[in-house]
Amino acid sequence: GEAAAAVGGDGALLRHLCRKLRASGPVTVAGYMREALTNPAQGYYTRRGGIGESGDFITSPEISQVFGELIGIWYISEWMAMGKPKTFQLVELGPGRGTLTEDILRVFSQLSSVLSKCDVSVHLVEVSPKLGEIQARMLTGGKVQPSPKDESAYMKGISKTGIPVFWYRDIQDVPSGYSFYLAHEFFDALPIHKFQRTEKGWREVLVDIDPEVPDQLRFVLSPSSTPATENFIQPEETRDHVEVCPEAGVIIQRLACRIEKDGGAALVADYGHDGTKTDTFRGFQNHKLHDVLSAPGTADLTADVDFSYLRKMTQERTTTLGPIKQREFLKNMGIDLRLQVLLQNSRDTATREQLLHSYNMLMNPENMGDCFNFFALLPHHRLVHPDKKDKPESKSPLPPVAGFNELLLK
Ligand code: SAH
Repeated sequence: GEAAAAVGGDGALLRHLCRKLRASGPVTVAGYMREALTNPAQGYYTRRGGIGESGDFITSPEISQVFGELIGIWYISEWMAMGKPKTFQLVELGPGRGTLTEDILRVFSQLSSVLSKCDVSVHLVEVSPKLGEIQARMLTGGKVQPSPKDESAYMKGISKTGIPVFWYRDIQDVPSGYSFYLAHEFFDALPIHKFQRTEKGWREVLVDIDPEVPDQLRFVLSPSSTPATENFIQPEETRDHVEVCPEAGVIIQRLACRIEKDGGAALVADYGHDGTKTDTFRGFQNHKLHDVLSAPGTADLTADVDFSYLRKMTQERTTTLGPIKQREFLKNMGIDLRLQVLLQNSRDTATREQLLHSYNMLMNPENMGDCFNFFALLPHHRLVHPDKKDKPESKSPLPPVAGFNELLLK
């Protein structure tokens, strides 16, 4: 029935994987993760994508509108610091239910006097047709049309605030031009390779069928080194277990190239570390931990983002800021003042309690305050005048980047 199909209870993806494993042997964790999350027919995001209270995991934009509003202010503050260009694209990777973009567009509309005459468009990169539909309903009220075959977008519409919105499957399809990029809980959903140090050297962790139990998966180690162990492990590596997400590296490189060439900035927010953690591969179902190898396609699979790897992959095409803890970033963006205003404006106790509860979820180190991080890519000239060395006094000082420093409103 519909309910069973919705949770993938029929095990179609597991059967598909087992057939594949029997025919051609173990697959990499990355190959497994890609199938489980984005298999076109049976992947978790393709079919289910359970974000929100009733789903499998909850994200900051779903907890409080303040989160997206402060991010909207970050973009406006950077737009101003960069000399108010006449046009920009807001490009979001993996927009989920579209809540974050919705909150950002509301801020843009409230500050339309500041943004006046600036030509803004929204570009969403989403692989899941199901989530694309939910985003379309959220942002446009469902008024979307498929794009003609010769256009790179697969769908387009107009937001409730009058801004054109386009959907793509890949960042490479997004037109070039001055852009602000956003990736919230996107990089953690991309496939990782896993490696284990052994006495004989580095081995890759693979997924195979358990010969003892029918249709059950298990982890094995590659018998020898693989192309991935050769390419992705640094000679100076000190950890015994390492996770690498090459797809994240490719995407951050594309963003860095685009920002270097066309200008703009990227804001990445995710849980992660700076190259120190080891085994972080996890599954979530109904807000509970779920065995990553059982019932693929029915649980969200994720791994912490390695920000040191992202920084390295920008190849210094841009400046990077962070990672900085979510609670520090939001504090710098003025979340305390925003909370006070909302509390003063709300009459009933239930709303006030809700506001305090969501603030606590976002900010408390025990909740999301410490484990979530913000990381940004900016053109080099945003932080250092190109000819600073020659004529240090001739230029006015560059404004600090909000969030990573205290927000200064002029
Ligand atoms: N940013 C949202 C959703 C996070 S879930 C939030 O914070 O609430 C991850 C999102 O990335 C989903 O929208 C999922 O469909 C999308 N996604 C996952 N893999 C992708 C890929 N390879 N390309 C594009 N989108 C992807």
